[in-house]
Amino acid sequence: MKLRLLVLFLVFSFSVSAETLRALSPAEEVLNKAVADRMNYLEHRYHIRFDRAAFKGATFGIPAEHDQTFEAEYVPGESRIYVNRSFVFWFVRTKVCFGERAFEGVPQFSRSQKLLTILDHELGHFWADHVSRKIGNGAWPSPYNFSELSWDQQCGLRVLTEGVAGYFSYTTPDYNRKERAKSFPEESDAKYWYGRGGQVAFYAGGYWLVRPILQRFREKGVEYIVTHPFYFEDGDARQAAKEYQRTALAELGKKRK
Ligand SMILES: [Zn+2]
Repeated sequence: MKLRLLVLFLVFSFSVSAETLRALSPAEEVLNKAVADRMNYLEHRYHIRFDRAAFKGATFGIPAEHDQTFEAEYVPGESRIYVNRSFVFWFVRTKVCFGERAFEGVPQFSRSQKLLTILDHELGHFWADHVSRKIGNGAWPSPYNFSELSWDQQCGLRVLTEGVAGYFSYTTPDYNRKERAKSFPEESDAKYWYGRGGQVAFYAGGYWLVRPILQRFREKGVEYIVTHPFYFEDGDARQAAKEYQRTALAELGKKRK
């Protein structure tokens, strides 16, 4: 009963404090502690750097104009992570049960794993967006021209964005297999991309495509990705993905010498 009252109180406190310059709620404090821990962990594991000064923090609630079923969202250019309100209670409980070090390192208890994976994924979006702005390429992906892109250009962009984010969140052996290139269709089929097939291509295929580029070249690799769109004009997305990966590795390798 006590716990139920706590949840009601937290939900109420969110609804009355909409302005941006406000004190963090207890759950948001835990959330931001978790994000800071994940930044440290990802930097150590993947040998990259986050710009903490540029990061605006994490908050609960998906922006009203977006899909409310999202578990979390990173808005390019805004440097902020939005986490679905349904996770508020989880953060409070985790802090109470596991204390200060609950979010550091490899997740040790199964229920936390999903949410930490989500935070890692959104931090991957932040990293790519921030590197893009740092080199003068603007927010990535650009929120201004997305709707002007053709459907296959939009799909190509999503392959790259979700691939980079997935690089930080997919740690299971299943996603490491070479045959993940088969997530891309060999023949032109717009319908494929609008259904389950697109989801598989964006996340698993995207991860397959960017993984060796980021693994070998890290920040230089993501600089290449944010400045080189992925197209599959002739319809064979699988061949185009292989070609993109091959060219990226060759060009980055040349620069390094
Ligand atoms: Zn994503």
